[in-house]
Formats: sequence, C-alpha cells, structure tokens
Amino acid sequence: MKIGMIGAGLSGIIAARELVRQGHVVELIEKSRSVGGRLATRRIGDGRADHGAVYFTVRGEELEREVQSWMSADWVRVWYADPYPRYVATDGMNGLAKHLAEDLTVQLNERVENVQVEEDGTVTVKTDVTTRSYDRVVMTAPLPQSFELLGSLVDQIKPALLRLVYAPTFVGLFKCAGDVQIGEDGILDHDLTSGLLKVINNRQKGISETSLISAYMEEAWSEAWYERPEAETLAEIERLVREEVGDLDIQSRQLKRWRYAQAKDVWHEPFYQVSHHPIYLAGDIFLESDDPSGRTRFESAYLSGLRVAEAVQESIEG
Ligand SMILES: Cc1cc2nc3c(=O)[nH]c(=O)nc-3n(C[C@H](O)[C@H](O)[C@H](O)COP(=O)(O)OP(=O)(O)OC[C@H]3O[C@@H](n4cnc5c(N)ncnc54)[C@H](O)[C@@H]3O)c2cc1C
Repeated sequence: MKIGMIGAGLSGIIAARELVRQGHVVELIEKSRSVGGRLATRRIGDGRADHGAVYFTVRGEELEREVQSWMSADWVRVWYADPYPRYVATDGMNGLAKHLAEDLTVQLNERVENVQVEEDGTVTVKTDVTTRSYDRVVMTAPLPQSFELLGSLVDQIKPALLRLVYAPTFVGLFKCAGDVQIGEDGILDHDLTSGLLKVINNRQKGISETSLISAYMEEAWSEAWYERPEAETLAEIERLVREEVGDLDIQSRQLKRWRYAQAKDVWHEPFYQVSHHPIYLAGDIFLESDDPSGRTRFESAYLSGLRVAEAVQESIEG
C-alpha cells in the first residue's frame, strides 16, 4: 500500500516510521526545507537556539520506552528534573526529528494545495510541485491548515472539530556576548514580567556554544502583538527580557512568529477519519480519551502518530 503523510512534524514522522515497519511505501510531504515542524532549532552564528518545543515530558509507557532508546543513542538527555525529568534533544529539538526521519522518504519544500478522493477510492494530493496518488493519506498539519486542503470534504467533518482554535506564540531570539547566566538551569518560567512565558539560555540548556536566549511570549501577548511590525515587537520583547534578567550585551535579535503554536482546546480521540474516506487527521491536538494531562504537547503528537498508524494498518488488513 502507498501512504501519503502530509507534514513531517513529530506525529507524521512517528506514523511514517510505524507504517514503514509494517512494510508499506510511505512518502512524507513537507512544505518547509527541513523536517520537524514545531520541533524547531535555528543556527545563529556559532550557536543554536530552540524556538519551538522547549523540552518534553513523559507520562506514558510507550514514549518512556522510546525515550530510553533515544537516550542510549545519545539523541536526547535530561536537562533538569523539577521533580519529573524535562528531556531535550542533544543537538536541539530539530536534531531529534532529523534522527527519527533518517530512513524515511521525505519530499521537502513541497506544499500540499489540495487533497481529493477519486471514484476508485484512491486519494490525489496536488502540491505546488506535482500531483501524487495514494491508497491512504494522513494529514498532520495544525487543523486550520489541513481543513484548507480538503475543499468540499470539510462539510463531512464534525462541526465541533472545525471549531477548535489555536493560539499564536512569539519567540524572540537574542545573541548575547559573554557567558550569560539565567537561573540555575538556564530557564525562568515562574512569576515572570507580564507578557513573558519562558526565558531560556540555550547555552545552559546544553545545545549551544554561545549564549543565545529564547524568550517565549504568552498567548495573549502574542495575540495582541500579532499584527504589529517586527522591529517594534522585537524591541518590546527585548525590553521585557532586560526587565526580567537585567543587563545583557545583545549583539543580534530575531523573531519567530508561530501562527498555530498550541491548541486552545483539544479533541479527545487520538486521530480522526474524514467520514468513510481513506483520509485521516492526526497531530498533537488529538489526545487519547484517557490522556492524563489534557494538553497538547510533544507526547500527544507522538501518541497520535502511533494510533493513526495502527488505524491505517487495520483499515488495510480489513
Ligand atoms: C513555541 C512553542 C513552544 C512549545 N513548547 C513545548 C514544550 O515545551 N513541550 C512540549 O511538549 N511541547 C511544546 N510545544 C508543542 C510541540 O512542539 C508540538 O506539540 C509538536 O511538535 C507538534 O507536532 P505535530 O507533528 O503534531 O505538528 P507540527 O510539528 O506542526 O507538524 C506539522 C507539519 O506539517 C507541515 N505542513 C503544514 N501545512 C502543510 C502543507 N500544506 N503541505 C506540506 N506540509 C505542511 C508543517 O510545516 C509541519 O512541519 C511547543 C510548540 C511551540 C510552537
């Protein structure tokens, strides 16, 4: 069976690995120039800064087992425990995605524009490069982006799913001179100046040779500033960071705007099949019905990838 996976973030990569293991031909289509999606790391000068997921935590046994093997391979390690472990990828979060996708077929720099079901039951995926045909398609982009691709098939999706909303997050990246020290572990995430959610020093986090600060802004702040000019936004983030951590010798600054950073609400099933069609929606917004945290996160993306792969496999076995 030939399976198309739209989006090479964590959920797409995990689903693809499982289906390849079952013997299927799987092709990931990714609009960006790298795999990883919201597992995002930027190189700045001689350093590296994560600007998507900061760390991940583990609640379930499936991810726990996987993390043990990732630790043995030196792909991830514990950053700090407070009291439960915060895991980070050794070379930045994007490096983990790259390791996981190593043996997969990924079409990068290819944006899907439309997905439709043919009369013979196959699914046609039209991209800005070519048209591809699959027996099953899994869509893992944030839901508003997936819905845009489905045309009139959207009418067959439950209205409650269509109503789910995501919040933006802004991240300011600051290259600083010298060995900046931020807290004991390189993270401040409690009682911060209004607007700031987390301030991270990627050097103390262990992924950067140089002091690179990632300043994560609160949802409400990011929403309020969404339409403002970039320079003005960065200047305000810098002011808030200085207010929080004191004087810094900032040499350069960059802004990352995530339009769909985190879902405000979640779906309590680990994936969704579009009516009776061979098209499945997956990703971090899809939680298992007994999910203990109720929040979208690295682990929910991981589990959604596993569960949707099982469902696709079952549909093939009949
Ligand atoms: C700022 C920020 C901070 C975070 N912090 C944490 C944290 O500390 N801990 C934690 O556990 N989680 C955190 N998260 C959440 C975590 O990163 C996500 O839950 C997880 O990475 C989502 O994976 P995914 O595969 O579901 O989606 P994504 O990673 O979004 O993958 C979807 C992919 O689809 C691609 N795509 C979209 N449209 C198209 C198209 N038309 N054609 C082709 N490709 C397309 C995208 O480029 C993307 O690569 C954070 C997220 C953000 C943004």
